[in-house]
Amino acid sequence: IIRVYHEPLYWGTERFGTLFVHRDITSEYEVDQMKSEFVSTVSHELRTPLASVLGFTELLLYKELKPERQRKYLSTIHQEAQRLTGLINDFLDLQRMESGKQNYVFQEVDLLPIVENVIELQNVNASLHRFEIVRQTDKSVVWGDPDKIRQVFTNMVGNAVKYSPNGGLVQIVYKQSGDSLVIELSDEGLGIPEDALSKLFSKFYRIDNSDRREIGGTGLGLAIVKEIMLAHQGEIAVASEYGRGSTFSLRFPLPRMQEPSHSLSDDSRA
Ligand code: ADP
Repeated sequence: IIRVYHEPLYWGTERFGTLFVHRDITSEYEVDQMKSEFVSTVSHELRTPLASVLGFTELLLYKELKPERQRKYLSTIHQEAQRLTGLINDFLDLQRMESGKQNYVFQEVDLLPIVENVIELQNVNASLHRFEIVRQTDKSVVWGDPDKIRQVFTNMVGNAVKYSPNGGLVQIVYKQSGDSLVIELSDEGLGIPEDALSKLFSKFYRIDNSDRREIGGTGLGLAIVKEIMLAHQGEIAVASEYGRGSTFSLRFPLPRMQEPSHSLSDDSRA
């Protein structure tokens, strides 16, 4: 987007021309757009849980309720408060990452137990999906920050579950590609329309199609994953067939000198 300014040019009192300044304001425009997306996301995502916290606390305060009903309302209030905390934490995390203020504690990290644990937690949360881990390489150790890597897989597995039907298969494939470890997460879900692919990792971007309008979210999850992958000198990519499913690939550089003890050759989950 180009904005053009023009100024008359004078030599003394004599006008001898016009100065045209062409300024690329694409990024300013994008920032403005993001701000308005932020305002609408925040107003929706903050208001919805707050409205139910208010509604249910009023019921608890002013109505005679059976203990089991009280418990049900309290658990809704608890869930909604957790959702709010999640949104605020994601927002602050992303802010820190983008400004380079996020601290990373790098060490050798084995991805296998992290991924398994993320799946276990997903199942505890009553997910009805099937998970399959396929190891096409015995490599699984990268140089990274374990907490941040957990956040990557929590967001990725969470999305695979959120945007695919119950009973759907979520497959996680480990492969080596040159000096990198590549983890592919595939689901049998809604998929991603082609025009959305390039915007998917932008902050606050959500696909506003009728197939997913009811699914809650903030549009921050993939932006956070992208920032974490960049901090690990890695990459994230996506391929999708709309209506059939999506495959996200996470690429981590392999540590230069991998000790044999990290190859987990005694692991039987291949
Ligand atoms: P959120 O899930 O909070 O909206 P994300 O940044 O995690 O935000 O994802 C951005 C958008 O990308 C989502 O709104 C969703 O439409 C789409 N998306 C993400 N993961 C998947 C997936 N596995 N399948 C289909 N669509 C997805």
